[in-house]
Amino acid sequence: MSATILNFIDGELVQSGSGRTSPVFNPATGQQSETLGLASADDVRTAVAAARAAFPGWSNTPPLRRARILNRFLRILEERIDELAGAITHEHGKVLSDAKGEVQRGMEVVEFATGAPQLLKGEITENVGTRVDSHSLRQPLGVVAGITPFNFPAMVPMWMFPVALACGNTFILKPSERDPSASLILAKWLQEAGLPRGVFNVVQGDREAVDALLTHPDVAAVSFVGSTPIARYIYETATRHGKRCQSLGGAKNHMIVMPDADMDQAVDALMGAAYGSAGERCMAISVAVPIGETTAERLMQKLAPKVRALNIGPGTDPEAEMGPLVTKQHLDKVRAYINAGVAEGAELVVDGRDFKRQGYENGYFIGGTLFDRVTTDMTIYREEIFGPVLAVARAKSYDDAAEMINRHEFGNGTAIFTRDGDAAREFAHQIQVGMVGINVPIPVPMAFHSFGGWKASLFGDHHMHGPEGIRFYTKLKTITTRWPTGIRAGAEFVMPTMG
Ligand code: NAD
Repeated sequence: MSATILNFIDGELVQSGSGRTSPVFNPATGQQSETLGLASADDVRTAVAAARAAFPGWSNTPPLRRARILNRFLRILEERIDELAGAITHEHGKVLSDAKGEVQRGMEVVEFATGAPQLLKGEITENVGTRVDSHSLRQPLGVVAGITPFNFPAMVPMWMFPVALACGNTFILKPSERDPSASLILAKWLQEAGLPRGVFNVVQGDREAVDALLTHPDVAAVSFVGSTPIARYIYETATRHGKRCQSLGGAKNHMIVMPDADMDQAVDALMGAAYGSAGERCMAISVAVPIGETTAERLMQKLAPKVRALNIGPGTDPEAEMGPLVTKQHLDKVRAYINAGVAEGAELVVDGRDFKRQGYENGYFIGGTLFDRVTTDMTIYREEIFGPVLAVARAKSYDDAAEMINRHEFGNGTAIFTRDGDAAREFAHQIQVGMVGINVPIPVPMAFHSFGGWKASLFGDHHMHGPEGIRFYTKLKTITTRWPTGIRAGAEFVMPTMG
């Protein structure tokens, strides 16, 4: 019997009421490890009611005290990072060092959010008119929801809730049903850190839970991260129901390799960025664009042997560089993309389809895969594969490469490897992508900057965390003040005397 994973509502672990369940697997072994109870619409309504009831108390708690609770949460995360990383590896499959890395990046957002008293400071102008002053302040929205993908079960929720809570909102998290356990660990540790009941809630579930959140009149805002079709649906439905929404979608990130690039550096960067976390990263590089045939040949010569030599194994193996894919369905989907690439005429240089790891024959493993001579009309170029499949699309010139990137549907991240400042500057200036790396393959902004793509990679007006996160989770109020002449006018300032 596998354990059942519960909801966390109003400070308590509670069963889901729908009667529907979903299996959770260990991707390294293919064994079912737990059963997830899927939340019903009624469960969601109970969670929203709890979060609504907790809002007056939490929003009136001084920001400094809210920040102190987040500080205690941060210390717990530091002390127990191994426990959380272990749970991530168990359900997601990524190697332990990578799971720790994701927690670390999430912790940086918590660190940022502990600056709430400073971050929430308003603006003031004295004498907007004669003896009239104006000041602006930011107030929390109310109950806000976060709906998150499987690929970062701790970090992506931590892009959202530390900032939302620091600003005085109460929060409902709907994690991915494929790796739900990290959400409950976070809930337990927030409670231990002193977060009052009802301020942070978790509803496990699928579309039923999501729709209940998107249509509930007491949910003020929705943050979403996931695939583009769902991101579009979330944005359209949430905004139609009057909610503020930031909805981050999929990606196809290109890396240009200029003829003057340090080729060893570029190849090492590509290996980590294309194959790390088995390519299941929204900032993974999935298209390498060498400029000119000579650069392409030099790149392929160094890249192909490294892809063949990738050490692939269970996430718990300290030697493994890459773990399995998340589910059997996803493994089948990635294999189907490789088949499509072959059928459409791309040159399959390294084929990972038949990879097997001894002792883990039922795990969802696939080998690193490398295609050369990929063209922009091919499915493997146009669509997000979300697996360890790198497409090399040769370009004749820098201009052709930049145009290719600008014409792509997605605009999440991109990079250029070069020693030339002029090329790098032009690239940063003209490229239609939200996050740009210059000799940095995965340019994920730090917590005190904001994360987000352009085009079909983000629907809404705000990126996540950093200053944009504070703006998203607060609404602006501007107060104009004039005081009539008062006690000061008639006041006596001389020493009163009896005579
Ligand atoms: P997904 O879109 O399948 O699921 C994301 C969330 O939406 C989950 O919580 C899921 O339960 C829910 N969901 C799924 N189908 C739904 C439906 N029909 N109606 C309502 N809710 C639904 O994404 P995933 O497979 O978990 O994650 C991978 C995707 O996320 C990739 O496309 C990746 O690029 C993207 N991603 C983007 C970013 C970014 O910052 N832009 C970051 C991480 C992941």
